[in-house]
Amino acid sequence: LGNSLRDSLGKLSGQSRVTEEDVEEIVKEIQRSLLQADVEVSLVMELSDSIKERALEEESPAGTSARDHVLSIVYEEMVALVGDSTEIPLEEQTILLAGLQGSGKTTTAAKMAWWFSKKGLRPAIVQTDTFRPGAYDQAKEMAGRAEVDFYGDPDEEDPVKIARDGLEATSDADVHIVDTAGRHALEDDLIDEIEDIERAVDPDRNLLVLDAAIGQGAKDQASQFDDSIGIEGVIVTKLDGTAKGGGALTAVNETDSSIAFLGTGEEVKNIERFEPSGFISRLLGMGDLKQLTERVERAMEETQEEEEDWDPEDMLKGEFTLKDMRRQMQAMNNMGPLDQVMDMIPGMGGGGGLMDELPDDAMDVTQDRMRSFEVIMDSMTEAELENPRAIGASQVERIAKGSGKDEERVRELLEQHKMMSQTLKQFQGMGQGNMERMMKKMQGGGGGGGGGMGGM
Ligand code: GDP
Ligand code: MG
Repeated sequence: LGNSLRDSLGKLSGQSRVTEEDVEEIVKEIQRSLLQADVEVSLVMELSDSIKERALEEESPAGTSARDHVLSIVYEEMVALVGDSTEIPLEEQTILLAGLQGSGKTTTAAKMAWWFSKKGLRPAIVQTDTFRPGAYDQAKEMAGRAEVDFYGDPDEEDPVKIARDGLEATSDADVHIVDTAGRHALEDDLIDEIEDIERAVDPDRNLLVLDAAIGQGAKDQASQFDDSIGIEGVIVTKLDGTAKGGGALTAVNETDSSIAFLGTGEEVKNIERFEPSGFISRLLGMGDLKQLTERVERAMEETQEEEEDWDPEDMLKGEFTLKDMRRQMQAMNNMGPLDQVMDMIPGMGGGGGLMDELPDDAMDVTQDRMRSFEVIMDSMTEAELENPRAIGASQVERIAKGSGKDEERVRELLEQHKMMSQTLKQFQGMGQGNMERMMKKMQGGGGGGGGGMGGM
Protein backbone atom coordinates (compact mmCIF):
# COMPACT_ATOMS: atom_id res chain seq x y z
CA LEU A 1 0.00 0.00 0.00
CA GLY A 2 2.83 2.31 0.75
CA ASN A 3 3.78 1.62 -2.82
CA SER A 4 0.57 2.81 -4.40
CA LEU A 5 0.79 5.95 -2.32
CA ARG A 6 4.30 6.35 -3.57
CA ASP A 7 3.06 5.82 -7.12
CA SER A 8 0.40 8.49 -6.99
CA LEU A 9 2.81 10.85 -5.31
CA GLY A 10 5.47 9.95 -7.82
CA LYS A 11 3.28 11.30 -10.60
CA LEU A 12 3.42 14.67 -8.93
CA SER A 13 7.15 14.93 -8.52
CA GLY A 14 7.66 16.98 -11.68
CA GLN A 15 4.63 19.18 -11.25
CA SER A 16 4.49 22.41 -9.34
CA ARG A 17 0.70 22.63 -9.12
CA VAL A 18 -1.75 19.94 -8.09
CA THR A 19 -5.11 19.40 -9.68
CA GLU A 20 -8.21 18.35 -7.81
CA GLU A 21 -7.91 14.86 -9.28
CA ASP A 22 -4.30 14.55 -8.10
CA VAL A 23 -5.33 15.45 -4.59
CA GLU A 24 -8.31 13.07 -4.67
CA GLU A 25 -6.03 10.26 -5.72
CA ILE A 26 -3.45 10.88 -3.03
CA VAL A 27 -6.07 11.27 -0.36
CA LYS A 28 -7.64 7.96 -1.38
CA GLU A 29 -4.29 6.22 -1.01
CA ILE A 30 -3.73 7.80 2.36
CA GLN A 31 -7.19 6.74 3.48
CA ARG A 32 -6.43 3.19 2.44
CA SER A 33 -3.12 3.11 4.36
CA LEU A 34 -4.64 4.60 7.48
CA LEU A 35 -7.68 2.33 7.53
CA GLN A 36 -5.37 -0.61 7.03
CA ALA A 37 -3.38 0.61 10.04
CA ASP A 38 -6.59 0.57 12.14
CA VAL A 39 -7.13 4.30 12.25
CA GLU A 40 -10.77 4.99 12.95
CA VAL A 41 -12.96 5.88 9.96
CA SER A 42 -14.19 9.24 11.25
CA LEU A 43 -10.63 10.36 11.97
CA VAL A 44 -9.53 9.31 8.51
CA MET A 45 -12.36 11.34 6.99
CA GLU A 46 -11.58 14.40 9.08
CA LEU A 47 -7.96 14.19 8.08
CA SER A 48 -8.82 13.74 4.39
CA ASP A 49 -10.91 16.89 4.40
CA SER A 50 -8.25 19.09 5.88
CA ILE A 51 -5.58 17.65 3.59
CA LYS A 52 -7.73 18.22 0.51
CA GLU A 53 -8.57 21.73 1.53
CA ARG A 54 -5.01 22.75 2.21
CA ALA A 55 -3.49 20.96 -0.76
CA LEU A 56 -5.74 22.84 -3.14
CA GLU A 57 -5.60 26.15 -1.37
CA GLU A 58 -1.93 26.50 -0.60
CA GLU A 59 0.71 27.14 -3.17
CA SER A 60 3.82 25.06 -2.95
CA PRO A 61 6.85 27.18 -2.11
CA ALA A 62 9.28 27.95 -4.93
CA GLY A 63 11.53 25.00 -5.71
CA THR A 64 9.25 22.48 -4.05
CA SER A 65 7.35 19.95 -6.14
CA ALA A 66 3.64 19.50 -5.70
CA ARG A 67 4.37 16.00 -4.41
CA ASP A 68 6.58 17.20 -1.59
CA HIS A 69 4.20 19.94 -0.73
CA VAL A 70 1.16 17.66 -0.49
CA LEU A 71 3.16 15.18 1.51
CA SER A 72 4.28 17.79 3.96
CA ILE A 73 0.65 18.86 4.40
CA VAL A 74 -0.28 15.24 5.09
CA TYR A 75 2.48 15.04 7.65
CA GLU A 76 1.58 18.30 9.37
CA GLU A 77 -2.07 17.41 9.60
CA MET A 78 -1.20 14.04 11.09
CA VAL A 79 1.16 15.59 13.60
CA ALA A 80 -1.66 17.93 14.58
CA LEU A 81 -3.91 14.94 15.09
CA VAL A 82 -1.53 12.70 17.02
CA GLY A 83 0.16 15.52 18.92
CA ASP A 84 3.54 15.65 20.61
CA SER A 85 4.50 13.06 23.16
CA THR A 86 2.91 13.24 26.59
CA GLU A 87 5.02 15.29 28.92
CA ILE A 88 6.75 13.09 31.46
CA PRO A 89 8.70 15.30 33.84
CA LEU A 90 11.86 13.81 35.31
CA GLU A 91 10.82 14.29 38.91
CA GLU A 92 9.06 12.56 41.77
CA GLN A 93 5.72 11.22 40.67
CA THR A 94 3.24 8.39 40.81
CA ILE A 95 2.02 6.82 37.60
CA LEU A 96 -0.94 4.47 37.37
CA LEU A 97 -1.13 2.01 34.49
CA ALA A 98 -4.54 0.97 33.18
CA GLY A 99 -5.55 -1.38 30.39
CA LEU A 100 -7.03 -4.72 29.49
CA GLN A 101 -5.38 -8.00 30.36
CA GLY A 102 -2.55 -8.84 28.00
CA SER A 103 -2.18 -5.27 26.76
CA GLY A 104 1.30 -5.16 28.25
CA LYS A 105 0.91 -3.26 31.55
CA THR A 106 3.24 -5.38 33.65
CA THR A 107 5.91 -5.44 30.96
CA THR A 108 5.50 -1.70 30.45
CA ALA A 109 5.79 -1.02 34.19
CA ALA A 110 9.21 -2.67 34.18
CA LYS A 111 10.21 -0.92 30.95
CA MET A 112 9.23 2.50 32.26
CA ALA A 113 11.00 1.84 35.54
CA TRP A 114 14.11 0.95 33.57
CA TRP A 115 13.69 4.13 31.49
CA PHE A 116 13.39 6.32 34.61
CA SER A 117 16.39 4.66 36.22
CA LYS A 118 18.46 5.44 33.12
CA LYS A 119 17.42 9.06 33.56
CA GLY A 120 18.92 9.02 37.03
CA LEU A 121 15.74 8.62 39.06
CA ARG A 122 14.92 5.86 41.49
CA PRO A 123 11.76 4.07 40.38
CA ALA A 124 9.69 1.44 42.17
CA ILE A 125 7.01 -0.85 40.81
CA VAL A 126 3.94 -1.55 42.91
CA GLN A 127 2.12 -4.62 41.66
CA THR A 128 -1.59 -4.71 42.57
CA ASP A 129 -2.88 -7.47 40.28
CA THR A 130 -4.59 -10.03 42.53
CA PHE A 131 -6.72 -11.32 39.69
CA ARG A 132 -4.30 -13.12 37.46
CA PRO A 133 -2.48 -16.12 38.89
CA GLY A 134 1.23 -15.63 38.56
CA ALA A 135 0.96 -11.85 38.25
CA TYR A 136 3.09 -11.33 41.32
CA ASP A 137 5.89 -13.63 40.14
CA GLN A 138 5.89 -12.14 36.65
CA ALA A 139 6.05 -8.56 37.92
CA LYS A 140 8.74 -9.38 40.46
CA GLU A 141 10.82 -11.11 37.86
CA MET A 142 10.53 -8.19 35.43
CA ALA A 143 11.39 -5.66 38.15
CA GLY A 144 14.47 -7.77 38.83
CA ARG A 145 15.47 -7.58 35.19
CA ALA A 146 15.01 -3.81 35.23
CA GLU A 147 16.95 -3.71 38.52
CA VAL A 148 14.40 -1.52 40.27
CA ASP A 149 12.55 -1.55 43.61
CA PHE A 150 9.48 -3.72 43.76
CA TYR A 151 6.52 -4.25 46.04
CA GLY A 152 3.80 -6.88 45.83
CA ASP A 153 2.00 -9.20 48.23
CA PRO A 154 0.90 -12.61 46.90
CA ASP A 155 -1.05 -13.33 50.10
CA GLU A 156 -3.12 -10.16 50.14
CA GLU A 157 -6.42 -10.12 48.25
CA ASP A 158 -7.24 -6.44 48.44
CA PRO A 159 -5.49 -4.52 45.63
CA VAL A 160 -6.21 -1.19 47.30
CA LYS A 161 -4.41 -2.29 50.45
CA ILE A 162 -1.47 -3.55 48.37
CA ALA A 163 -1.32 -0.18 46.62
CA ARG A 164 -1.29 1.74 49.91
CA ASP A 165 1.22 -0.57 51.57
CA GLY A 166 3.34 -0.54 48.43
CA LEU A 167 3.69 3.23 48.29
CA GLU A 168 4.73 3.22 51.94
CA ALA A 169 7.17 0.34 51.62
CA THR A 170 8.88 1.96 48.63
CA SER A 171 8.91 5.50 49.98
CA ASP A 172 12.63 5.80 49.21
CA ALA A 173 11.86 5.75 45.51
CA ASP A 174 11.23 8.91 43.43
CA VAL A 175 8.94 7.46 40.83
CA HIS A 176 6.17 5.02 41.70
CA ILE A 177 4.68 2.98 38.92
CA VAL A 178 1.49 1.26 40.00
CA ASP A 179 0.63 -1.76 37.88
CA THR A 180 -3.00 -2.90 37.92
CA ALA A 181 -5.01 -5.95 36.97
CA GLY A 182 -6.87 -6.22 33.69
CA ARG A 183 -9.72 -8.36 32.40
CA HIS A 184 -10.38 -9.80 29.00
CA ALA A 185 -13.12 -7.29 28.45
CA LEU A 186 -14.21 -4.13 30.17
CA GLU A 187 -16.29 -5.19 33.13
CA ASP A 188 -17.79 -3.21 35.95
CA ASP A 189 -15.68 -4.87 38.63
CA LEU A 190 -12.50 -3.95 36.78
CA ILE A 191 -13.61 -0.33 36.56
CA ASP A 192 -14.61 -0.30 40.24
CA GLU A 193 -11.28 -1.77 41.25
CA ILE A 194 -9.17 0.69 39.28
CA GLU A 195 -11.25 3.60 40.57
CA ASP A 196 -10.60 2.44 44.15
CA ILE A 197 -6.88 2.10 43.50
CA GLU A 198 -6.75 5.49 41.84
CA ARG A 199 -8.43 7.09 44.84
CA ALA A 200 -6.00 5.42 47.25
CA VAL A 201 -2.89 6.17 45.21
CA ASP A 202 -3.77 9.65 43.93
CA PRO A 203 -1.44 9.38 40.91
CA ASP A 204 0.10 12.30 39.06
CA ARG A 205 -0.83 10.68 35.78
CA ASN A 206 -2.85 7.74 34.56
CA LEU A 207 -1.53 6.08 31.43
CA LEU A 208 -3.55 3.73 29.25
CA VAL A 209 -1.64 0.75 27.89
CA LEU A 210 -2.87 -0.39 24.48
CA ASP A 211 -1.84 -3.31 22.33
CA ALA A 212 -0.89 -2.04 18.86
CA ALA A 213 -3.32 -4.58 17.41
CA ILE A 214 -6.30 -3.12 19.26
CA GLY A 215 -7.88 -1.55 16.18
CA GLN A 216 -11.46 -0.32 16.42
CA GLY A 217 -11.81 -1.55 20.02
CA ALA A 218 -9.64 1.34 21.14
CA LYS A 219 -12.53 3.75 21.26
CA ASP A 220 -14.61 2.00 23.94
CA GLN A 221 -11.63 1.16 26.10
CA ALA A 222 -10.19 4.62 25.96
CA SER A 223 -13.46 6.37 26.70
CA GLN A 224 -14.36 4.03 29.59
CA PHE A 225 -11.01 4.33 31.32
CA ASP A 226 -11.07 8.06 30.68
CA ASP A 227 -14.52 8.38 32.20
CA SER A 228 -13.58 6.40 35.27
CA ILE A 229 -10.09 7.62 36.17
CA GLY A 230 -9.07 10.15 33.48
CA ILE A 231 -6.31 9.27 31.05
CA GLU A 232 -3.33 11.61 30.59
CA GLY A 233 -1.42 9.56 28.07
CA VAL A 234 -1.33 6.41 26.01
CA ILE A 235 1.32 3.71 25.70
CA VAL A 236 1.26 1.58 22.57
CA THR A 237 2.84 -1.85 23.00
CA LYS A 238 3.91 -4.62 20.63
CA LEU A 239 4.92 -2.31 17.84
CA ASP A 240 7.61 -4.83 16.99
CA GLY A 241 4.85 -6.95 15.45
CA THR A 242 2.92 -6.34 12.26
CA ALA A 243 0.26 -4.07 13.79
CA LYS A 244 0.82 -0.39 13.15
CA GLY A 245 -1.03 0.96 16.17
CA GLY A 246 -3.55 3.22 14.45
CA GLY A 247 -5.91 2.54 17.36
CA ALA A 248 -3.69 4.81 19.42
CA LEU A 249 -4.92 7.76 17.38
CA THR A 250 -8.46 6.88 18.35
CA ALA A 251 -7.47 6.60 22.01
CA VAL A 252 -5.61 9.89 21.94
CA ASN A 253 -8.54 11.58 20.28
CA GLU A 254 -11.05 9.99 22.63
CA THR A 255 -9.16 10.91 25.80
CA ASP A 256 -7.91 14.25 24.55
CA SER A 257 -4.42 13.14 25.49
CA SER A 258 -1.28 12.11 23.63
CA ILE A 259 1.10 9.18 23.30
CA ALA A 260 3.78 8.83 25.96
CA PHE A 261 5.76 5.68 25.15
CA LEU A 262 6.02 2.93 22.58
CA GLY A 263 6.74 -0.69 23.45
CA THR A 264 8.85 -2.46 20.87
CA GLY A 265 9.65 -5.87 22.33
CA GLU A 266 9.51 -8.12 25.36
CA GLU A 267 12.72 -6.93 27.00
CA VAL A 268 12.84 -4.11 29.56
CA LYS A 269 14.99 -2.08 27.21
CA ASN A 270 12.43 -2.23 24.41
CA ILE A 271 10.80 1.08 25.19
CA GLU A 272 10.92 4.35 23.31
CA ARG A 273 9.62 7.75 24.08
CA PHE A 274 6.92 8.56 21.54
CA GLU A 275 8.02 10.77 18.69
CA PRO A 276 5.43 11.71 16.05
CA SER A 277 7.45 11.45 12.85
CA GLY A 278 8.46 7.80 13.10
CA PHE A 279 5.02 6.74 14.17
CA ILE A 280 3.30 8.64 11.38
CA SER A 281 5.71 7.44 8.71
CA ARG A 282 4.97 3.93 9.89
CA LEU A 283 1.21 4.44 9.77
CA LEU A 284 1.47 5.70 6.22
CA GLY A 285 4.01 3.10 5.22
CA MET A 286 6.52 5.76 4.24
CA GLY A 287 9.95 6.34 5.62
CA ASP A 288 11.11 9.85 4.98
CA LEU A 289 8.34 12.18 6.01
CA LYS A 290 10.01 14.30 8.62
CA GLN A 291 13.05 15.03 6.54
CA LEU A 292 10.88 15.95 3.64
CA THR A 293 8.73 18.24 5.72
CA GLU A 294 11.82 19.98 7.01
CA ARG A 295 12.96 20.51 3.44
CA VAL A 296 9.63 22.07 2.52
CA GLU A 297 9.74 24.23 5.62
CA ARG A 298 13.16 25.50 4.67
CA ALA A 299 11.88 26.39 1.23
CA MET A 300 8.99 28.24 2.86
CA GLU A 301 11.33 30.19 5.09
CA GLU A 302 13.42 31.21 2.12
CA THR A 303 10.31 32.42 0.34
CA GLN A 304 9.38 34.41 3.40
CA GLU A 305 12.80 35.97 3.70
CA GLU A 306 12.42 37.33 0.20
CA GLU A 307 9.30 39.12 1.33
CA GLU A 308 11.10 40.63 4.29
CA ASP A 309 11.60 44.13 2.95
CA TRP A 310 8.30 45.33 4.19
CA ASP A 311 7.28 48.93 4.20
CA PRO A 312 4.99 49.91 7.06
CA GLU A 313 3.13 52.21 4.71
CA ASP A 314 1.89 49.20 2.78
CA MET A 315 -0.32 48.58 5.74
CA LEU A 316 -2.20 51.75 5.02
CA LYS A 317 -2.67 51.01 1.36
CA GLY A 318 -4.12 47.58 1.25
CA GLU A 319 -5.85 45.20 3.59
CA PHE A 320 -4.39 44.75 7.05
CA THR A 321 -3.62 41.02 7.01
CA LEU A 322 -2.59 38.71 9.83
CA LYS A 323 0.91 38.87 8.40
CA ASP A 324 0.86 42.61 8.97
CA MET A 325 -0.39 42.01 12.46
CA ARG A 326 2.43 39.60 13.14
CA ARG A 327 5.02 42.10 11.92
CA GLN A 328 3.27 44.71 13.97
CA MET A 329 3.53 42.57 17.05
CA GLN A 330 7.17 41.89 16.39
CA ALA A 331 7.81 45.60 16.00
CA MET A 332 5.94 46.27 19.22
CA ASN A 333 8.20 43.90 21.05
CA ASN A 334 10.89 46.50 20.55
CA MET A 335 8.73 49.51 21.24
CA GLY A 336 6.32 48.80 24.04
CA PRO A 337 2.55 48.63 23.86
CA LEU A 338 0.92 50.18 20.83
CA ASP A 339 -1.33 52.48 22.83
CA GLN A 340 1.70 54.04 24.52
CA VAL A 341 3.29 54.59 21.17
CA MET A 342 0.11 56.22 19.99
CA ASP A 343 0.09 58.47 23.01
CA MET A 344 3.33 59.98 21.88
CA ILE A 345 1.91 61.14 18.61
CA PRO A 346 0.26 64.57 18.60
CA GLY A 347 -3.45 64.36 17.97
CA MET A 348 -3.67 60.69 18.77
CA GLY A 349 -2.92 60.22 22.39
CA GLY A 350 -3.19 62.48 25.39
CA GLY A 351 -6.42 64.06 26.49
CA GLY A 352 -8.98 64.46 23.74
CA GLY A 353 -6.93 62.56 21.13
CA LEU A 354 -8.28 59.88 18.88
CA MET A 355 -7.08 57.17 21.25
CA ASP A 356 -9.69 58.23 23.75
CA GLU A 357 -12.41 57.27 21.34
CA LEU A 358 -11.15 53.76 20.86
CA PRO A 359 -12.31 50.83 22.93
CA ASP A 360 -9.85 50.36 25.78
CA ASP A 361 -8.57 47.00 24.68
CA ALA A 362 -8.35 47.74 20.96
CA MET A 363 -4.59 47.96 21.17
CA ASP A 364 -4.01 45.86 24.19
CA VAL A 365 -1.89 42.91 23.17
CA THR A 366 0.06 41.79 26.18
CA GLN A 367 3.27 39.85 25.87
CA ASP A 368 1.62 36.59 26.79
CA ARG A 369 -1.16 37.00 24.34
CA MET A 370 1.31 38.01 21.67
CA ARG A 371 3.29 34.89 22.24
CA SER A 372 0.29 32.62 22.00
CA PHE A 373 -0.92 34.55 18.96
CA GLU A 374 2.39 33.90 17.28
CA VAL A 375 2.13 30.21 17.99
CA ILE A 376 -1.40 30.19 16.59
CA MET A 377 -0.34 32.03 13.45
CA ASP A 378 2.36 29.44 12.88
CA SER A 379 -0.42 26.88 12.51
CA MET A 380 -2.26 28.91 9.91
CA THR A 381 -1.93 28.49 6.20
CA GLU A 382 -0.60 31.19 3.94
CA ALA A 383 -4.10 31.77 2.61
CA GLU A 384 -5.50 32.16 6.10
CA LEU A 385 -2.85 34.68 7.08
CA GLU A 386 -3.60 36.70 3.98
CA ASN A 387 -7.34 36.53 4.36
CA PRO A 388 -8.34 35.93 7.97
CA ARG A 389 -11.94 36.80 7.21
CA ALA A 390 -12.29 33.49 5.39
CA ILE A 391 -11.36 31.48 8.48
CA GLY A 392 -14.41 29.47 9.48
CA ALA A 393 -15.25 27.19 12.37
CA SER A 394 -13.56 24.10 10.93
CA GLN A 395 -10.34 26.02 10.30
CA VAL A 396 -10.47 27.44 13.82
CA GLU A 397 -10.72 23.89 15.10
CA ARG A 398 -7.78 22.74 12.99
CA ILE A 399 -5.64 25.74 13.91
CA ALA A 400 -6.39 25.22 17.60
CA LYS A 401 -5.38 21.59 17.37
CA GLY A 402 -2.27 22.37 15.39
CA SER A 403 -1.08 25.06 17.75
CA GLY A 404 -2.14 23.36 20.97
CA LYS A 405 -4.15 26.45 21.93
CA ASP A 406 -7.85 26.72 22.76
CA GLU A 407 -10.30 27.54 20.00
CA GLU A 408 -11.29 30.43 22.22
CA ARG A 409 -7.77 31.82 21.89
CA VAL A 410 -7.83 31.47 18.10
CA ARG A 411 -11.09 33.40 17.96
CA GLU A 412 -9.60 35.99 20.28
CA LEU A 413 -6.76 36.48 17.83
CA LEU A 414 -9.18 36.92 14.94
CA GLU A 415 -11.19 39.38 17.02
CA GLN A 416 -8.03 41.29 17.88
CA HIS A 417 -7.08 41.44 14.24
CA LYS A 418 -10.50 42.79 13.37
CA MET A 419 -10.24 45.48 15.99
CA MET A 420 -6.77 46.52 14.90
CA SER A 421 -7.77 46.62 11.29
CA GLN A 422 -10.81 48.78 12.09
CA THR A 423 -8.64 51.06 14.15
CA LEU A 424 -6.19 51.42 11.30
CA LYS A 425 -9.03 52.29 8.97
CA GLN A 426 -9.89 55.16 11.30
CA PHE A 427 -6.31 56.31 11.20
CA GLN A 428 -6.25 56.22 7.45
CA GLY A 429 -8.41 59.30 7.47
CA MET A 430 -5.89 61.16 9.60
CA GLY A 431 -2.90 63.15 8.55
CA GLN A 432 -0.70 60.88 6.49
CA GLY A 433 2.42 62.52 7.91
CA ASN A 434 1.65 61.57 11.50
CA MET A 435 0.80 58.09 10.49
CA GLU A 436 4.00 57.59 8.58
CA ARG A 437 6.07 58.85 11.43
CA MET A 438 4.39 56.54 13.85
CA MET A 439 4.83 53.55 11.59
CA LYS A 440 8.48 54.34 10.94
CA LYS A 441 8.99 54.50 14.70
CA MET A 442 7.42 51.18 15.28
CA GLN A 443 9.31 49.62 12.46
CA GLY A 444 12.62 51.10 13.59
CA GLY A 445 12.32 49.53 16.99
CA GLY A 446 13.97 50.65 20.23
CA GLY A 447 17.45 51.76 19.11
CA GLY A 448 17.33 54.97 17.09
CA GLY A 449 13.73 55.64 17.91
CA GLY A 450 14.30 55.97 21.63
CA GLY A 451 16.06 59.32 21.58
CA GLY A 452 13.69 61.01 19.22
CA MET A 453 10.59 59.98 20.97
CA GLY A 454 10.43 62.84 23.42
CA GLY A 455 10.46 65.31 20.59
CA MET A 456 7.41 63.91 18.91
P1 GDP B 1 -0.66 -7.19 31.15
O1 GDP B 1 -1.65 -8.30 31.28
O2 GDP B 1 -1.32 -5.95 30.65
O3 GDP B 1 0.11 -6.95 32.38
O4 GDP B 1 0.35 -7.60 29.98
P2 GDP B 1 1.80 -8.23 30.11
O5 GDP B 1 2.79 -7.20 30.47
O6 GDP B 1 1.74 -9.44 30.96
O7 GDP B 1 2.07 -8.64 28.59
C1 GDP B 1 1.32 -9.61 27.91
C2 GDP B 1 2.21 -10.29 26.89
O8 GDP B 1 2.62 -9.37 25.91
C3 GDP B 1 3.48 -10.85 27.49
O9 GDP B 1 3.77 -12.07 26.88
C4 GDP B 1 4.53 -9.83 27.11
O10 GDP B 1 5.82 -10.40 26.99
C5 GDP B 1 4.02 -9.35 25.81
N1 GDP B 1 4.46 -7.99 25.51
C6 GDP B 1 4.26 -6.87 26.23
N2 GDP B 1 4.78 -5.78 25.59
C7 GDP B 1 5.32 -6.24 24.46
C8 GDP B 1 6.00 -5.61 23.35
O11 GDP B 1 6.20 -4.39 23.27
N3 GDP B 1 6.41 -6.42 22.33
C9 GDP B 1 6.17 -7.78 22.36
N4 GDP B 1 6.61 -8.47 21.31
N5 GDP B 1 5.54 -8.37 23.36
C10 GDP B 1 5.11 -7.64 24.40
MG1 MG C 1 -0.10 -7.67 34.29
